[in-house]
Amino acid sequence: MPITGKTKLLGVIGDPVEHSLSPVMHNAAIAHLGLDYVYLPFPIQGENLAQALDGFAAIALVGFNITIPHKRAIIPLLAEVSPVAQAIGAVNTVWRTEKGWEGTNTDAIGFIAPLRECDRDWSKITPIILGNGGAARAVVAGCVELGCSEIRVVGRDRAKLDKFKLSWQNTPFAGAIRVHLWDELPSLVSETQLLVNSTPVGMSPHIDRSPVDENILKQLPTGAIAYDLIYTPSPTRFLQLAKNCGALAIDGSEMLVQQGAAALQLWLQQPVPAKVMRQALLESLQRK
Ligand code: NAP
Repeated sequence: MPITGKTKLLGVIGDPVEHSLSPVMHNAAIAHLGLDYVYLPFPIQGENLAQALDGFAAIALVGFNITIPHKRAIIPLLAEVSPVAQAIGAVNTVWRTEKGWEGTNTDAIGFIAPLRECDRDWSKITPIILGNGGAARAVVAGCVELGCSEIRVVGRDRAKLDKFKLSWQNTPFAGAIRVHLWDELPSLVSETQLLVNSTPVGMSPHIDRSPVDENILKQLPTGAIAYDLIYTPSPTRFLQLAKNCGALAIDGSEMLVQQGAAALQLWLQQPVPAKVMRQALLESLQRK
């Protein structure tokens, strides 16, 4: 569809934002639906965040995604923030209402989308999450949404782990979280059906690294799922090793697609073609 004065605007802000795969996914879905929208990347520095939001309101931008490093910093600038985004402490999707800009977080929805395809009684599963950074927070929220009543988070710094646990206080997620240092991992792995890597270990260019070695992965019970949030490379070393040990492997690409699809659905208020977004993402990753 040609861009005209009637074309509606969507976008993503970040610093940097050039690497973002969101424009490729969203514009493919928009073209497929034949809608008069365009999704653009906007590089915005932290000190210009408030000014950018005013500018977006002035040009009647419909909504936008937020990537690193603004996911937390944007919260005080919003008129309303959904409970899940408040609990995660980060917003990745914003839209305009009469009250002003409102925000939520679709990463947890994205994370659980491929898990919903797996036939499991999640109330009986205690997931283990490796890492306690930003993505781990969406994974925790996703696991609670799935029905897990206990979630183990593994980190390398006791003070950061304690801070992580404390940060969930006063949220519905607080009671579910247990924190552990890495040296406890070997004794926990045999009891989990879901092991999630939310560390960057194994990401390109360090593709020969895995956060967990084969001897530990061998202890995963039959039918366990190994889930890596990383999508480049795919599979990661972690997923290769886990697969060799009999686990079901899930990479981070579907999370990326589904968090985007959930955002686009919010803006357009209609079903969106996740299949088209997935195809566009995979083609773009292959070209990289
Ligand atoms: P982050 O906030 O920087 O957190 C990274 C976590 O990994 C921290 O807890 C960090 O520990 C830990 N870590 C880093 N290096 C480690 C190592 N060598 N050994 C053990 N732990 C280590 O990053 P993030 O935003 O959570 O992102 C994490 C990963 O998820 C990245 O690979 C990112 O690309 C991926 N991700 C994917 C999606 C998706 O849609 N698929 C979405 C978001 C993120 P310390 O705190 O002790 O440093």
